[in-house]
Amino acid sequence: MIRFKPLRTGRGGRALRIGYGRIFHEACAHSPLPTDLDAFDRLHRLQGAALAEVSTLSGGAELASFMPHAELTGFCQAARMAGNVTTIPLASALAVPGGPIPHATFRRLLDDLVNATKAAGHLDGVYLALHGSMQVPGLDDAPEAVIIREVMAAAPGARIAVSYDLHGNLSKNMVEPVDIMVAYRSNPHWDLAPTGFRAGNRLIRALRDQVRPTHAWRKLPLVLGGGMTIDFLAPMRGVFGWMKDLEKDPRVLSGSLFMVHPYTAADDLGWATHICTDGDQDLADRLVDELSDRAWAQRDAELPPMRSIDQALDEVRAGMWRKLGPTILVDVDDIVGAGAPGGNTHFAQVLSQNDRGLLSYLPVHDPALLQALWDAPTGSTHRVTLRGTPGYEMPAVDLSVEVSTKATINGGRTLRLDAGQTKLAICEAPPLPIHPSFWTSLDLDPRRADVIVQKNFFHYRMFYAATAVRHLPVVSEGATSLRRLRERDYPVPMHPKDHVADWRDSDRTLRERSWRKQRENTPVAQAATA
Ligand SMILES: [Zn+2]
Repeated sequence: MIRFKPLRTGRGGRALRIGYGRIFHEACAHSPLPTDLDAFDRLHRLQGAALAEVSTLSGGAELASFMPHAELTGFCQAARMAGNVTTIPLASALAVPGGPIPHATFRRLLDDLVNATKAAGHLDGVYLALHGSMQVPGLDDAPEAVIIREVMAAAPGARIAVSYDLHGNLSKNMVEPVDIMVAYRSNPHWDLAPTGFRAGNRLIRALRDQVRPTHAWRKLPLVLGGGMTIDFLAPMRGVFGWMKDLEKDPRVLSGSLFMVHPYTAADDLGWATHICTDGDQDLADRLVDELSDRAWAQRDAELPPMRSIDQALDEVRAGMWRKLGPTILVDVDDIVGAGAPGGNTHFAQVLSQNDRGLLSYLPVHDPALLQALWDAPTGSTHRVTLRGTPGYEMPAVDLSVEVSTKATINGGRTLRLDAGQTKLAICEAPPLPIHPSFWTSLDLDPRRADVIVQKNFFHYRMFYAATAVRHLPVVSEGATSLRRLRERDYPVPMHPKDHVADWRDSDRTLRERSWRKQRENTPVAQAATA
């Protein structure tokens, strides 16, 4: 059958009413900082008309300082192009990655979404923008599965489309109840709006009986850390290129690869693949097996070499690179962009013993030290103890410091303390200095530094392209330590912790595994009762 392009916008057919909303968070089980309602309120939490306003190309920014147009704008655009679709804003909430979400916060966000769904009247469909790596103590299933279940109950008869981050961890009840499922196809993620568009477009076409979504998915016993999973670099470039080409075939509605966020406590952690075809189960099964084989074949690609802090500083000191600008030391064990709290004190400890004459810029989350010195006069000197994030169990580091610039950056108070050649940015909130302006706000010129410590794997490089040419991954100890992936328990042999010959050995076990009710004595519960 020949298909003409205009049909693929979903035009024609009956009038539709589709609701849309979001609950989006990536959890790090090893962070002592719970992600509470304030964390959502600070970044993005909207309902009704205010949500509709930011979900248009001409309206305000959908995700405040992050991204002007994201999934919900893309979804609304798909509905406009299809014509004769009424879109109903439900509720939307997003916070930066952090510790697990307390149950009461999750309940509040889900009640907002469910109540808005019930109040919307008859809905033909609902689109939900979710992450896939949320964590909430006290639930009996993946949080996203609970969201889908309750929204479906609030909109009887509606068909559901879901989009996930490619760092989502797929569980049975996040996949099987939904009609349409798509995921980001770029890492770092720039394709939020196109992802929402694809979800909306396919949902509308399914509701108008133009396509028959037919799914196949697989789980792979594979958990890798960051640095290996950039879509446009080796080793994943070829896999993503092949997968994106699949959707040029009109028989294929979507192809998705999930390279999970490895720091949650999910019982069924592991990479996943998903293919949706137009009514062709054999094709879906064949393509999902091939996508799985292609992803699996990359599993032994070598990680970039990691240094200890001492090794990295020695290397900077000895090298000629200093003349070319600062060297970025990526704090692999305390990646705030992956949910770590940013209170690693190991760098300060090493530099306080021997700074090697290097001018070093170092962000540290230490709200107690910030509070103690915030009102101290500029130029005053103090003996202080740096402890990092409360509950993070970092080494206490004694320092002599001079109080320098005070600034509010991304809504959080930040205090510059100078310990000789080491310039500390003491932060009230987990620091995410992905832009060089973080340092200029503290009267520090990033180009003059020898060393800048970064709390992000890759995204920052877009902003630092003109500032730094050298980037060294450095390991110490923290919430996103790669060793945690090797030390945790898995229900099946897991690469690279264990030798696994074929992903097929445990695919079915992982796909059928249900979640145990998550224990309450997690760092979240401890922090709440402390
Ligand atoms: Zn992600």
